[in-house]
Amino acid sequence: MIVQRLHEIQERCGYLPEAEMRALSAEIGEPLHRLHEVASFFPHYRLAPGPAARVLVCRDMACHLRGAAELETDLKGLANELGEAKLTVGKASCLGRCDHAPSVVINDKVYWDKSASELREMIRLAVVDPTQPPMQHASRVKPGWKIDPYDGEPRYEAARKLAQGGDVDAALEQMETSKLFGMGGAAFATTHKWKSVRKAPGAIKYVVCNGDESEPGTFKDRDLMRLAPHLVVEGVIIGALVIGARRGTIYIRHEYEEEIAAVKAAVEAARAMGALGPDIFGTGRAMEIDVFVSPGGYICGEESALLEAMEDRRAEPRNKPPFPMYTGLYGKPTLINNVETLSWVPSILLNGGAWYRDQGIGGGTGLRFFSIAGDVERPGVYEIPTGTTLRRLVFDHAGGMRGGQALRAVAFSGPSGGLTPARVKVENVGRRWSKDHPPGDDGTYDVLDLPLEPESFRAIGTMLGAAITIIGAEANLLDFALSCLRFYRDESCGKCVPCRVGSQKLVDLAESLARGNFPRSGLGLVDELSRAMVLTSICGLGMVAPSPLTSLIKHFPEAVEPYLAPAR
Ligand code: SF4
Repeated sequence: MIVQRLHEIQERCGYLPEAEMRALSAEIGEPLHRLHEVASFFPHYRLAPGPAARVLVCRDMACHLRGAAELETDLKGLANELGEAKLTVGKASCLGRCDHAPSVVINDKVYWDKSASELREMIRLAVVDPTQPPMQHASRVKPGWKIDPYDGEPRYEAARKLAQGGDVDAALEQMETSKLFGMGGAAFATTHKWKSVRKAPGAIKYVVCNGDESEPGTFKDRDLMRLAPHLVVEGVIIGALVIGARRGTIYIRHEYEEEIAAVKAAVEAARAMGALGPDIFGTGRAMEIDVFVSPGGYICGEESALLEAMEDRRAEPRNKPPFPMYTGLYGKPTLINNVETLSWVPSILLNGGAWYRDQGIGGGTGLRFFSIAGDVERPGVYEIPTGTTLRRLVFDHAGGMRGGQALRAVAFSGPSGGLTPARVKVENVGRRWSKDHPPGDDGTYDVLDLPLEPESFRAIGTMLGAAITIIGAEANLLDFALSCLRFYRDESCGKCVPCRVGSQKLVDLAESLARGNFPRSGLGLVDELSRAMVLTSICGLGMVAPSPLTSLIKHFPEAVEPYLAPAR
């Protein structure tokens, strides 16, 4: 319980006082260095008292496009005025409020949609009164999503049927028919994972729902957990029934305060309805779900790093294999699925796998949620058929381009997939795919006409995640890519050298490019460094960290050329 107890101490004291750390060490019988090992890893923990107000400005993706840098400079001016004993201003990594960018943290509470003058006023109040400002609440409007078979009135029918003598193999068959894949980014076949954990030997198994959602630009799971938390809970119960587990954990990032409260309330309600507890649905079977509040950090979204945090260690990814399906939490077979993936399971079991599968269009299967933000008029979370074109998502759902500007680039999977241009050249597309999909007369593909399904995106050499950031013609792409590189540099856990050193080197190279003293010959160095990081990093972070810069160089020569130093 180190992680959760540190969290509780910091909430109570504002930081981790030495006396409290010593008392905790004595109480739980863990040496003090173990507590410091954990506390020193997560930036959320503070070992010394801070100023009266501590402000962090999100600078990633959508916030970057919506003036976060200028906002930070403005608030730093206030910090200079008030002095650092009263106010410090720094940078936060993506806070998952990309639909209301820019967002800021004031004394561990997240705020959005505020002007610089409103924030100045709120901060001045927080400096004199630590109870100010009060928490800001997100929308609770009933969404009417197809994912919810209960329309907001949880009945746990799918879990009940399965627990009360339902056929697990038949349930897996429905899942297989649905072609449901992992919605956390990897797009791994869900049924394959479930079957593997079910078959894995061992009497003790676990289900973990990954609600860390720290990829910049992603915020769909936040809406799902706040507006339909019962689906997440039911998905975990069904997963546990299928693999033979009695315990599940829903892992949520600490910045999602409202979502943590909503999921905890849903767990309590499920217990009151007999869907959890010592005798679920009168079957004599026990099952419990707990909520684990993550101490934060992008790397906690990596499933083995998440398990390390749950086991009270630094969230450093494990070497794989073995995979968590066989050796997961506390060394036991563990089913780890994303919030959305698990939330689809109740409706698939109640309506049938074909109901889900056949809602896909344009070569895609099923429905899915996308978070779309950046230069669009109505950033938000949209439930749409997989295979819908980007054009429909941008213009029919997200209100079109902000201020009517032209589309310049899209980041389809946070910063991980790099930048894709508005028109993709045929030479940058897989040959087999381009044979079946001829380009336009100018030898390019309009990215707005691409169906949002994984195969098309593999063909154009990028990834399709749930986070789509739209970048308009007015953006400075080099500046945008640099902010993405800084994100990876800041979030690297430091376990392996290629990522720890390479992510800093990438920032150095891009900064030198932005200053105009980067030689053309240096472009080869970017390529070499990128290949080394892809080949040798332990986890995905180090492998994707170069993407913002390599994709910029590949697809946007007009954004790079003006910055290259003239040959001597
Ligand atoms: Fe940590 Fe980066 Fe290595 Fe991943 S690749 S383990 S984030 S240092």
